[in-house]
Amino acid sequence: MRISKRVAVIGAGSMGSQVMWRLAARGAEVIGYDRYAPGHDRGAAGGETRIFRAVHLGDPGYIPLLGLADRMWDRLQRETGFSLRRRSGCLVMGETASPSMRLLLSASSTHRLDHEVLDREELARRYPQHRLPDGHTAVLDRMGAVIRPEASVQAAATRAEQLGARLHRYTPVREVAPAAGGGVRIVTDQGTDHVDTAVVTVGPWINTLLPDLPRTVDVRRLISSWHLPTRHDWFAGGAPAFVRSTPHDCYGLPSPDGISVKLGLSLARYLPVPDPELLDRTVRPEELATFRELIGELMPDLNPDPIRLSVYMEGYTESGNPLVGHLPGEDDIIVMAGFSGSGFKLSPAMGEIAADLALDGTTDHPIGFLAPAEAGAV
Ligand SMILES: Cc1cc2nc3c(=O)[nH]c(=O)nc-3n(C[C@H](O)[C@H](O)[C@H](O)COP(=O)(O)OP(=O)(O)OC[C@H]3O[C@@H](n4cnc5c(N)ncnc54)[C@H](O)[C@@H]3O)c2cc1C
Repeated sequence: MRISKRVAVIGAGSMGSQVMWRLAARGAEVIGYDRYAPGHDRGAAGGETRIFRAVHLGDPGYIPLLGLADRMWDRLQRETGFSLRRRSGCLVMGETASPSMRLLLSASSTHRLDHEVLDREELARRYPQHRLPDGHTAVLDRMGAVIRPEASVQAAATRAEQLGARLHRYTPVREVAPAAGGGVRIVTDQGTDHVDTAVVTVGPWINTLLPDLPRTVDVRRLISSWHLPTRHDWFAGGAPAFVRSTPHDCYGLPSPDGISVKLGLSLARYLPVPDPELLDRTVRPEELATFRELIGELMPDLNPDPIRLSVYMEGYTESGNPLVGHLPGEDDIIVMAGFSGSGFKLSPAMGEIAADLALDGTTDHPIGFLAPAEAGAV
């Protein structure tokens, strides 16, 4: 049944494709716009793999949102018939006494999440590809998984179109603003559209389209680096994704083809991106020094010379929490931005939440701590 509400989704990337799917599934008239086309590699969604984890090390408020995301990932796979997520598990390794490891262990127990604590010997037996220094612990998050980002964006956008959504590809929105007389005005190079509600999901381009956000979104340039193993059993134990905090915060994902391992570093190493349209996608040799150091110290069975390098962007907020909800003072404009390096796993939950906000004006899902108005406001 079609709901008589016309909703624009601006940006059909990680979040926007899922928002389009959920809105179309609920019968809204959905009009999507993307600067490029679903699945492109110029924003936050490229590079073959993303980590899904049941525990987010930030606010405990993420636990129910990750539960919702988990169910919605299964639903998207069922509806589209595509394999978008492999339940590989995720190994989290760090200093046993560090605040982040203690938080991880207590949250895993309190919320009865399916996890296993591994000491150095057990890790070496089951996952010989990883070295654990003295005084460190490994936690296997059994709900952890590897998601395929480009395939997920395309699957969600295609499903939305099958359900009746329209998507304007290669159509950047130049302006989104309240319309005189109600609703929202969407300006593109082709003309002006009027809708009841707009959901803005333009990722790293957020400051270009909405320069006056109530919270700062700092856009950064991220390097992904793919390495070949030098021993045949690198993918032992089901090839879990991994997150490590020493000597530098980093993460890694075995590639879906079982050939290489993708590594990424923490925010501290990322350069600002003043203009997302002018992103520098060239990686200089000196930018690889930290990857070499990590490999030498923690994963000596990976070849430090990468076989592939790619550059992406992401928007970070000071608190690490994204902005999710109505723009202050605007009943018809919803924003989802600043996912701070951990948004992909949440994207189908964000689709469901945006559909609630756009069609019902509110949601029962607990997103108060993500309010656009203030960091951490409930
Ligand atoms: C290298 C890297 C690794 C990451 N690893 C993980 C991970 O392991 N796990 C995890 O959960 N998260 C991870 N993240 C974070 C996650 O990928 C992001 O939080 C998420 O992709 C952000 O989605 P988005 O929709 O905000 O942005 P995008 O996916 O970039 O989507 C924005 C879309 O808006 C479009 N657009 C821009 N401007 C306009 C306009 N004016 N008009 C129309 N369309 C427009 C763009 O073309 C784009 O398609 C990682 C991010 C990066 C970069």
